[in-house]
Amino acid sequence: MKSRVGVSLLCLLLAAASFVRAAEPEVRVVLWFDTEDYLLPASDDAAKRVAEILTARGIRGTFKVVGEKARVLEQRSRGDVVAALRKHDIGYHSNLHSVHPTPAEYLSACGWLDGIAEFARREGAGARDVRRIFGVPGLSCYGQPGSSWAPQAHAALRQIGVVTPAGVPVYLDEGTNVGFEEKPFWYVGALNVFNMGRNQVRMELHEPGGLERGCAAFKAAYDRLRAEGGGLISIYYHPAEWVHQEFWDAVNFRRGANPPREEWKRPPQRPAAETEAAYHRFEKYLDYQLALPGVKHVTASDLPAIYGDWIRAQGADLETVKDVAERVARAPALDVVRDRRGRFISPAEQFSIVTGFLVRWIGDGRLPPQVEVGELFGPSERPPATEVGELPWRAFRDALLDAADEARVRQQVPTCVFAGVKKIAPADFLRASAAVALAAIDAGPARPAFPEKVAIPSGTPVATELFVADDTPELFGGWIIHPEGFRAPRIVEMAKLQAWTLKPAQRAAAAGETTTAARRVPVGSWGGARAGLTVEEGQARLELDCAHGSIPRRLAVDTTGRFEAEGRYVPEHGGPVRAAEADEGQPARYSGTLSGQTLTLSVKLGDGQTLGPYTLTLGHPPRLMKCR
Ligand SMILES: [Zn+2]
Repeated sequence: MKSRVGVSLLCLLLAAASFVRAAEPEVRVVLWFDTEDYLLPASDDAAKRVAEILTARGIRGTFKVVGEKARVLEQRSRGDVVAALRKHDIGYHSNLHSVHPTPAEYLSACGWLDGIAEFARREGAGARDVRRIFGVPGLSCYGQPGSSWAPQAHAALRQIGVVTPAGVPVYLDEGTNVGFEEKPFWYVGALNVFNMGRNQVRMELHEPGGLERGCAAFKAAYDRLRAEGGGLISIYYHPAEWVHQEFWDAVNFRRGANPPREEWKRPPQRPAAETEAAYHRFEKYLDYQLALPGVKHVTASDLPAIYGDWIRAQGADLETVKDVAERVARAPALDVVRDRRGRFISPAEQFSIVTGFLVRWIGDGRLPPQVEVGELFGPSERPPATEVGELPWRAFRDALLDAADEARVRQQVPTCVFAGVKKIAPADFLRASAAVALAAIDAGPARPAFPEKVAIPSGTPVATELFVADDTPELFGGWIIHPEGFRAPRIVEMAKLQAWTLKPAQRAAAAGETTTAARRVPVGSWGGARAGLTVEEGQARLELDCAHGSIPRRLAVDTTGRFEAEGRYVPEHGGPVRAAEADEGQPARYSGTLSGQTLTLSVKLGDGQTLGPYTLTLGHPPRLMKCR
């Protein structure tokens, strides 16, 4: 069972990989920072410093802020820290993080709907505070404290204002509760970057030799993803790691300890020299990434545009309905389906497509050309065993209309479909419905005929459950904050039911879609009066009169031909160059437009001075006056 599903999904993924190989491979890097230590004031400065290090390089990171941390920044009048972080993406990391009960502790006693309500009740206020204090309309993502994971959190994110500008909630964290081949996936209506395996890398901040090992690990993931046609690397830190000797929460809330607020203790701080060395290592680590061709840093907010939910955005036409119906009717288990246009479709989406199609067919008396794909969560409880093997058409029809209505109104796959008093498990009902839909499509639009009887299978498994981890002592109890031996079998049960919603996330090209992808500035030498630009695969070098500059990436223009990029600018002088000057210079913002073989370029320096615009032509030599 396990190997069969594994092989079929592997085939899907390999097919997806071959689809995108034609495009130039891009390795995206999502850098995220769990900003949570509300006890050690030095961690406020650390968050600011990390944000500034990113800003200086034109990188945007994602700071997942704890509600209490935001409130403490406000109390300590650290508007400077808020302003530095606000230049980046702001996400959410729970209200109190490690104060008991943590999310998994309180959700271990909940079912599905009450769990969603309880998560929203306990975590909603913190999300409001982070939004207010940071002045952002929405928070780009959420991720659980420690191993305190539960699927009800995903379902509650929209409700508490954790949603990207694209209207999609993003779950960004690490853990092993659910995952998909070390790649982003959809689960419970959220785009998940989680359980990334070999695509989650880190550099040890405080170890001598950490930089070299960190860069080697990054390069290994980068090379592997480039060979696969591109992909995503996930890297996380806690700003507090730069300054503390021990995590703030382990000092106070270890193994179920729950001292009152008045007794919270500050964690011990590192010597300043160690902190400085770690900042330096981190800067070098980022510079190493920037120098590699095809590396692009992205935030949680960027992810929905990269990994669109194509089937939900575009709907299902008759061919897709047929692809789904054929696969579901004939396979012994529910699994992810890939339609002929290359789009992945989760079991819950299959339920929406097939029942939606049949309801329209019954209502209109003809085959609908297009069906919307609704967002459905999985069932609330483990479905009962199916009690009926066959239904007369009218009994099936009435059960279908009721099940489709329940799915539409409650936005979840029903726990149980009723045919009168008889219970039918939703997976069995979906397979029966798929057979009816397939027969209708095969009969053709001329004579849509309802069958006399509908066979109902039994015991249909939901194969995507295999991607949800089983309950083990380590799954929740491995986190030092949870009580020794803490287990949450009810959360695992809820997580498996939500496997109905699981499917790989795919990039636009893999889904057979065209996007308005950025165009690259052609590689080569561009020259003109007083300036020359050499565009290479992963960088561009600028020569000006008595100055030079660099942009640590290949230039790309948007759909209107404009570009903007952060880089460095170094003034020159006559005479010998001192060794220490190699890394000197200042940050600069390069901007301009590309039109055919002509590039217009301006340089804005950190002190506000603007150079140019220079007009450059591909293949022309620069005409420069150099100082040296
Ligand atoms: Zn955390």
